[in-house]
Amino acid sequence: MKLILLGAPGAGKGTVAKRLTKTSGAVQISTGDILRGAVKEGSELGKQVAACMAAGDLVSDALIMRIMEARLQEPDCDSGFLLDGFPRTIPQAEALKELLAKLNIELDMAVNLDVPKDVVLDRLSTRRTCVNSDCQAIYNVKSNPPKQEGVCDKCGAAIVQREDETEEAISHRLATYEEKTAPLIGFYEAEGGRFVNER
Ligand code: ADP
Ligand code: ZN
Repeated sequence: MKLILLGAPGAGKGTVAKRLTKTSGAVQISTGDILRGAVKEGSELGKQVAACMAAGDLVSDALIMRIMEARLQEPDCDSGFLLDGFPRTIPQAEALKELLAKLNIELDMAVNLDVPKDVVLDRLSTRRTCVNSDCQAIYNVKSNPPKQEGVCDKCGAAIVQREDETEEAISHRLATYEEKTAPLIGFYEAEGGRFVNER
């Protein structure tokens, strides 16, 4: 299974991707997880993107494409992949199309998770994330709390509110989504026959 998952922040791309990995053998590739891992490690990449991410801005298309060109050639992608949080702009979608053609990879589908804005707003402000960069499990203080408050069920690390999940950064991320990412729905609809809209 080779899928692109589209949708606003908080729509459920990561949650759906994690579920699908269990049944399909495909790997989840989350550019957000990759970048947060780099920030936590303090690598060169992490230093480059930290400020941008904390503010809820997108990192540059060129940088994301360098990461994804390498990632899509790793052997675990042969059994399928679920792209979560990428592509995020029209230039990324165009570059991905070229990259897939070059690597001889055919996508099965782009799936849009269409969730009302008030629901994503509520979800984002109540979302909590495991700080362990190898885990990054997602919880919700209302609908899916961990068994012990503040502690990840899966790995025992702390769960926290992400730095870009302050009210200000959330509204900035949603505005960025509307401006830069929502146009991808039209892009993949125009690709024809391989687009699904899910509520
Ligand atoms: P969200 O919950 O907003 O979908 P992600 O975990 O996917 O969050 O991404 C977190 C941050 O990482 C984004 O706000 C952005 O700064 C950066 N990022 C992730 N993926 C991309 C991408 N494809 N292009 C540019 N920036 C990205
Ligand atoms: Zn964890």
